[in-house]
Amino acid sequence: MVYAVWRENEMLAAYCILFPVYSVRMYDVAIIGLGCAGYTAAIYAARYKLTTLLVGELEGGTGIAAVEVGNWPGDIEITGTELMERMRKHAVSFDAVTHKVARIEKVEKEGETFLLTFQNGETAQARTVIFATGSKHRHLGVPGEEEYAGKGVSYCATCDAFFYRGKTVAVIGGGDSAVEGAAIVAQVAKKVYLIHRRDAFRAEPYWVDRVKGRPNVEFVLSTNVTKITGEQTVKAIELNTPFNGSKELSVDGVFVEIGAIPETKLAADLGCVLDDRGHLKVDSALQTTVPGVFAAGDVSGGSNHFAQFATAAGEGAIVGNSAFNYLSNRGEVAGGSMGGG
Ligand code: NAP
Repeated sequence: MVYAVWRENEMLAAYCILFPVYSVRMYDVAIIGLGCAGYTAAIYAARYKLTTLLVGELEGGTGIAAVEVGNWPGDIEITGTELMERMRKHAVSFDAVTHKVARIEKVEKEGETFLLTFQNGETAQARTVIFATGSKHRHLGVPGEEEYAGKGVSYCATCDAFFYRGKTVAVIGGGDSAVEGAAIVAQVAKKVYLIHRRDAFRAEPYWVDRVKGRPNVEFVLSTNVTKITGEQTVKAIELNTPFNGSKELSVDGVFVEIGAIPETKLAADLGCVLDDRGHLKVDSALQTTVPGVFAAGDVSGGSNHFAQFATAAGEGAIVGNSAFNYLSNRGEVAGGSMGGG
């Protein structure tokens, strides 16, 4: 009996050496990013019956910071958090979707497929990859910014406005994030300086109208912030040109809302080429310069660099379709090419 068990184990060990058993799961598509583009791509991929890994670090992505979304078709007004939660629920409702909140450290090409390595060392394989990795906040790069990050310097006015009840703050930037941010902070702060380097806002007129003429909001235009100073926390900012006779402005908080930098590192390390504005270069199917690898949402240069929920969802739909077409053209899934080319 003992001999028989020993024999069986020995044979199993020999079999494993000769024919290694890989426990790494192979997916038709791996979607990296849990924002609007990633969720939409997963919905489309799942409906094409592609086995789908949907993975990312932050559920909802940066879209959850939008306090008031007024341009998502079908909802006159909705919060970013609610919109992302609805999309998440929809995406994970499919059996074909494996959903993980985790950080991917590396994506490598292995022959005709891709190997994804998670932060904990686990791996997964995929026949196609969709980067929906979004973007990160752009920093001003002035003295004091890093030192006071989290001590009065914030990169999300809509998230942190609450901490500045009755205080004086500066919001820097001239796009939707800055102007929406100023409108939200002005609901609680005593005074908001909206500081923009030009004399015209890039933001939608809708948002500019929301802050213009508000008694506690003052525009500081054609001005750059050159330094952030303080003690334990932020106390003041320095300007490159005098405002009301002084280059120093006393503030309790600084919201840096000057746009975003696409999160391209994983894709660039895989060999995907960037466009002249630092987004992933894509063709009309939103395929990057690496065959079988697609990009959607803020990380892609596919929608005229117009970062919106609507464009991210549109790109998510396209990449779901493109991944399906790529696989079916190679005979790797059932069915013929559908839509899009
Ligand atoms: P953005 O549209 O790129 O605007 C960035 C702003 O920051 C610009 O006004 C820019 O000035 C300024 N800026 C850039 N670098 C600067 C620097 N080093 N120093 C000083 N100012 C600097 O970025 P965003 O406002 O974050 O918006 C990103 C995308 O999200 C946009 O597509 C926007 O429509 C969308 N979004 C939508 C909503 C909404 O609808 N609820 C809310 C937030 C964001 P210049 O104008 O001189 O270039």
